[in-house]
Amino acid sequence: MADIVLDHVSKSFGKVRVIDDLSLTVQSGEFIVFLGPSGSGKSTLLRMIAGLETIDRGRLLIGGRECQTVAPGQRNVAMVFQNYALYPHMTVRENMVFGLRNIGMASDEIRRRVEEAARILEMDQLLDRRPSQLSGGQRQRVAIGRAIVKEPAAFLFDEPLSNLDAALRVRTRVELAELHHRIGTTMIYVTHDQTEAMTMADRIVVLNDCRIEQVGTPMEVYTAPASRFVAGFIGSPA
Ligand code: ADP
Ligand code: MG
Repeated sequence: MADIVLDHVSKSFGKVRVIDDLSLTVQSGEFIVFLGPSGSGKSTLLRMIAGLETIDRGRLLIGGRECQTVAPGQRNVAMVFQNYALYPHMTVRENMVFGLRNIGMASDEIRRRVEEAARILEMDQLLDRRPSQLSGGQRQRVAIGRAIVKEPAAFLFDEPLSNLDAALRVRTRVELAELHHRIGTTMIYVTHDQTEAMTMADRIVVLNDCRIEQVGTPMEVYTAPASRFVAGFIGSPA
């Protein structure tokens, strides 16, 4: 388990500076939510931590290790994609095993991890199915299972609920909170949905225009918004 530190990080796409000298420390074990409107830089920030976007300037530390030039697969973080990105021709088990086999992990250890993840997510019954034989909620669970078996220092979620219907969204929210409670791994969760942020986060990072407006507990950002923007976006009286 490890702190994740963004230290004076900047990022441009072409000539456009989208992240400018941003610093943030995510504490080990916390559930942190990046909250902001569309285009506020949430995904870019998460993708920089995952290694899917380069960092132009500044440092990224994961567990004290400088990671800004480390390959995505070597960063010890696991991204859960919104579209699940499951391999359709593989079973659930094969989907979960694939990444581990690729890095040469021993089969005993792979089996232990898959069984553990299946137990945590209560999906032992699903291991031999293919993605086409699963519901949306079950597919998402497999995507999370595939992250769990990596035993990462942090899970990274980019709007994981936005493809789900309202009922499933609520249920998955509860399940994710329970998962965090059970395994205690750092979670960084991106959303534009204030309710998700308020109900799930230990701390919320409010982003606007690719800048941090405020970092605080749900209570703090709600009762003491640091700016007019935060007040308006969180929906509390200014
Ligand atoms: P969010 O996830 O909060 O909606 P993004 O991180 O996707 O925001 O985008 C932040 C800003 O960076 C936006 O202005 C967006 O247009 C821009 N941007 C994101 N990705 C790229 C890219 N690959 N090329 C150019 N501009 C991009
Ligand atoms: Mg986004």
